[in-house]
Amino acid sequence: MAFENAGKFAPFEKKLWLSSPTMHGEEIKYIQEAYRSNWMSTAGENIDEVEKLAQEKIGCRYAVALSAGTAALHLAMKLAGQELYGQSPMGHGTLEGKRVFASDMTFDATVNPIVYEGGIPVFIDTEEDTWNMDPIALEKAFEIYPEVKMVVMAHLYGTPGKLDELKEVCEKYGAIIIEDAAESLGATYKGKQTGSFGRYNCISYNGNKIITGSAGGMLLTDSLEAADKARKWSTQAREAAAWYQHEELGYNYRMSNVIAGIVRGQFPHLEEHIARKKEIYERYKEGLKGLPVRMNPYDAQNSEPNFWLSCLIIDKDAMCRQIRDERDVCYVKEAGKSCPTEILEAIAFINAEGRPIWKPMHMQPIYRMNGFITKKGNGRAMTNAYIAGSTVDVGMDIFSRGLCLPSDNKMTPEQQNTVIDIIRACFE
Ligand SMILES: *Cc1c(COP(=O)(O)O)cnc(C)c1O
Repeated sequence: MAFENAGKFAPFEKKLWLSSPTMHGEEIKYIQEAYRSNWMSTAGENIDEVEKLAQEKIGCRYAVALSAGTAALHLAMKLAGQELYGQSPMGHGTLEGKRVFASDMTFDATVNPIVYEGGIPVFIDTEEDTWNMDPIALEKAFEIYPEVKMVVMAHLYGTPGKLDELKEVCEKYGAIIIEDAAESLGATYKGKQTGSFGRYNCISYNGNKIITGSAGGMLLTDSLEAADKARKWSTQAREAAAWYQHEELGYNYRMSNVIAGIVRGQFPHLEEHIARKKEIYERYKEGLKGLPVRMNPYDAQNSEPNFWLSCLIIDKDAMCRQIRDERDVCYVKEAGKSCPTEILEAIAFINAEGRPIWKPMHMQPIYRMNGFITKKGNGRAMTNAYIAGSTVDVGMDIFSRGLCLPSDNKMTPEQQNTVIDIIRACFE
């Protein structure tokens, strides 16, 4: 279906991205230094330095630089699995047959590592105040599955979740927290950095994150023993012998010194990136006033997000009918109403990139048979169709009515005004 008011707008000459890398010049200096000194490897000064920078920023004792945030999450699962259930004979499958509670509305990299270790993710519904794991649903989940000892929680789009409440529930049931702070580097909750609340936590330097190494990630922990283990596993688990001696299963997960050079050059610009992202969020908030939409919410009293992505959600009574199946979508245009599909088409028309909200994991074909707990108790996979006033879970409701807006650091105010104007046109 074509966007009806398209005629009034001229597409940008250069594509406006959702969130693209923003380089500053220092990155190339550290890459060249790695080249000049021939540390073109998974060891070197850049790696040592970025581990220090992350420890200092986040306030955790140890940071282990890895090839990806997903690798960090995998090693976090393995560390927690070994701690809870002991070492399995081959050193993998530490969560074999064990249930693990996980955020439901998130990127699948939050939960896939549970399955790498043989575990079974059980998804916890989302709350409306920060779009993160609902502590009430989490408590319900422990009532239903009291044997569970591990919880993986993400801070979506850079907004910290309800950490006090979530921690309280986890402490009550003696569960280990793993924080997926891949999207929220630099965000704080009651003055403390995300990535410092769980036992084992992860951040990401993937290309579209708040700062980037083009790839890369880190495991964060206060345990020296855990950090040493993760470092060893990440370099094929070699023992201290003159030859390649192996007593444990290893991985090739260590960060490259070249990638670390990029991260090192980016780190001093983290706060500047956050300030810019916040300006973008505020400009949208101001510019969209009067429309039946709201920005992605956060707890302004207790938290300071990093504003990685600006998102909006359409009021229930301003949604036109929109139906999504597994691959396709259609909607019926109504005057004064819109839907994410129409807005995303309009944004694409001006050569800009928006994105649907993360489709909840309990609605993904791969995870459809897994448990899903809402604040009312056992949930179930529901229809993809948006039915106003239906009893759809919170995650699917946000997925149906929400979308991510172009949030690139390098977007000009003029470009952003055009994005705002075209959203306005969708509600005409
Ligand atoms: C990006 C991301 C990851 C994975 O990080 P990579 O570095 O891409 O492996 C994990 N969880 C969430 C929520 C993410 O957004």
